[in-house]
Amino acid sequence: MAAQNGLSLEGQNAVVTGASSGIGAAVAAGLAKAGADVVINYHSDEEGAAKTLTAVERAGSRGVIIGGDVGCESDVHKLFDCCEAELGPVDIVFSNAGIQRDCAFGEMSLADWEAVISTNLTGAFLVSREAVKRFRKKGLREEVSPALGKIVFNSSVHERIPWAGRVNYAASKGGVSLLMQSLAQEVGHEKIRVNSVGPGAIATDINADERADDADAIRSLIPYGRIGEPEDIAQAVVWLVSDAADYVHGHCLFADGGMTLYPGFIGNG
Ligand code: NAD
Repeated sequence: MAAQNGLSLEGQNAVVTGASSGIGAAVAAGLAKAGADVVINYHSDEEGAAKTLTAVERAGSRGVIIGGDVGCESDVHKLFDCCEAELGPVDIVFSNAGIQRDCAFGEMSLADWEAVISTNLTGAFLVSREAVKRFRKKGLREEVSPALGKIVFNSSVHERIPWAGRVNYAASKGGVSLLMQSLAQEVGHEKIRVNSVGPGAIATDINADERADDADAIRSLIPYGRIGEPEDIAQAVVWLVSDAADYVHGHCLFADGGMTLYPGFIGNG
């Protein structure tokens, strides 16, 4: 049964990008558990997307899978067309797809810079721009939510914390921060609610190598003392898009076990 107390997403349709693994997969399942039907976008891992679909259907919701690159304008249009054709008008968008291409700055290739900016920042732009257009076309459905639509970006603690060796990634997330805030300022009066989630270290494919190398080093950066799970972020996103968070707008909700608290200063630096 879907959640109550303003947390139910019954009757709403959600688009989740990069939903074949990690945080995107957990958020798709979390939205489904709250009652939403879900478009599951994947880039290359169709098998992963099929597993997400199973999780969505087990939760009692409908799901539809569609491939596409968030950095490609026509692919992004297709995600929304697919939602409207298969499920109905779009109410919720989780712009999640993201990559890392880590490299020392002097050796970073233009291709590594452009790949990260294209997926993490241009993708966020294309997906949220299309969301705004489709929300306007749909119109307010007060029977399902007081908001015309809800957008949540998957940012990172690295929208705030600089990250040596990953300037492309940190720059992309810094861009997402002001994309989110400026968009929230621009469209709030239309009842389009815009926020982001800022995960800390979450156990997914994106950081599998770092965790295998030295999980203790990562844990030492987290005051709460544990590496996060994708479901930790799913809980935060489900709340952010729910009516329980109807007055939360233009905010980055860090879900990071305290990583943004400068834990290097514990013991006075
Ligand atoms: P992940 O590698 O499991 O997920 C990334 C997803 O994005 C994959 O499903 C991948 O197929 C998809 N993707 C990549 N390029 C794409 C493209 N061009 N078009 C469509 N989809 C594409 O890792 P994750 O940790 O779940 O990452 C999801 C998001 O979370 C990313 O934006 C990442 O920056 C952010 N994030 C992750 C962490 C963490 O510690 N795991 C921390 C902060 C932020």
